[in-house]
Amino acid sequence: MSIIEQDKTYIANTYARFPVHIVSGKGSVAVDENGKEYIDLGSGIGVTAFGYCDEIWKNAVMDQLNKVQHTSNLYYTTPGAELAKTLCDRTGMKKVFFSNSGAEANECAIKVARKYASDNKGEEYYTIVTLVNSFHGRTLTTLSATGQDHFHKLFNPLTPGFVSTPANDVDAFEECVKNNKVAGVMLETVQGEGGVNPLDEKFVKAVADICKKEDIILIIDEVQTGNGRCGKLYSYQNYGIFPDVVSTAKGLGGGLPIGATLMSSKVESVLSFGDHGSTYGANPVACAGAKSIIDRLSDEFLAEVDKKSAYVFEKIGQMKGVVSVSGRGLMIGIKTERNAKEVVLECLEKGVMCLTAKDKVRLLPALNISYELLDKALSVIAEVCAKGV
Ligand SMILES: *Cc1c(COP(=O)(O)O)cnc(C)c1O
Repeated sequence: MSIIEQDKTYIANTYARFPVHIVSGKGSVAVDENGKEYIDLGSGIGVTAFGYCDEIWKNAVMDQLNKVQHTSNLYYTTPGAELAKTLCDRTGMKKVFFSNSGAEANECAIKVARKYASDNKGEEYYTIVTLVNSFHGRTLTTLSATGQDHFHKLFNPLTPGFVSTPANDVDAFEECVKNNKVAGVMLETVQGEGGVNPLDEKFVKAVADICKKEDIILIIDEVQTGNGRCGKLYSYQNYGIFPDVVSTAKGLGGGLPIGATLMSSKVESVLSFGDHGSTYGANPVACAGAKSIIDRLSDEFLAEVDKKSAYVFEKIGQMKGVVSVSGRGLMIGIKTERNAKEVVLECLEKGVMCLTAKDKVRLLPALNISYELLDKALSVIAEVCAKGV
């Protein structure tokens, strides 16, 4: 049996995989079983922030592997403590809870909001407001938080206490807060899976103001937008707001599973002994790799991400067959005249890996991708988008 056949036989049928078997990679180039090379503009859905087998990340991981790979949270270890300090120093947050995925980071954020509200406003204040078209994860509770009905149908009953309101509609948001006993609000500043839609600055600021006034916990889901992806360490920093809780994952680990929930001074003491936990949380190997990623996201490096972003936006904006470009930093959505899935499949055949989000082509290249590889990949995208239009 080939690997593809084995996978189809033995792995649960939850993924519509592309017919490509990747065996290795270096930087922004992946190699399949036949030796064919692909320029990767998806980075494993925004995870491999510095590409495949990046030397600095790999060395940080291997150094830690040679010391200790896991202890459980019954003991102190170096990488988790150092990563948490780095994240707090860089954001002004006060405490971090580590988990293993974006969904788990959001679960923790929701628990913090509910416990804060229960302690301070009363047990009936448990509702979490999210936005229509959002995506917050696949566990039953984060699925309940996700504002897209087609995710909900099959798994009733969902976790109660979630309502969604349309993005960029301040009046609707105010109405929603008035009509519910709200513990927290959770939003992505750029909706990723929902189609790479950046929120209006006015809306985000209004939400932050209302949250402050009503003592509602503001959670920013930075699972996809964070860790340099949108040109700042965290994308909320583009909006001039300061959230109560930030959840992140994906690019933070650079390829190893990690989730982090950052808590501001307002909520740093909400969780106490036994309120939450994770066997793998703060895994030393994952944290050592993550620290090496965050340490490289200097202001100078992030300015380069913005420069690269402007370059890509301009090039795509000029392509034939492109209706519009959306996003921020190196999180880019392309509305194409042709069907997005067809475009992505054809790009793959021509050696360029892209993603989709709803009806758009989505690009999440490694933050350090070279201009040379970018140019090559963009010319393939241009060719495919222009075909037949
Ligand atoms: C990917 C994603 C998640 C879920 O992360 P997992 O690691 O797959 O659990 C949550 N929120 C956002 C915004 C995401 O993009």
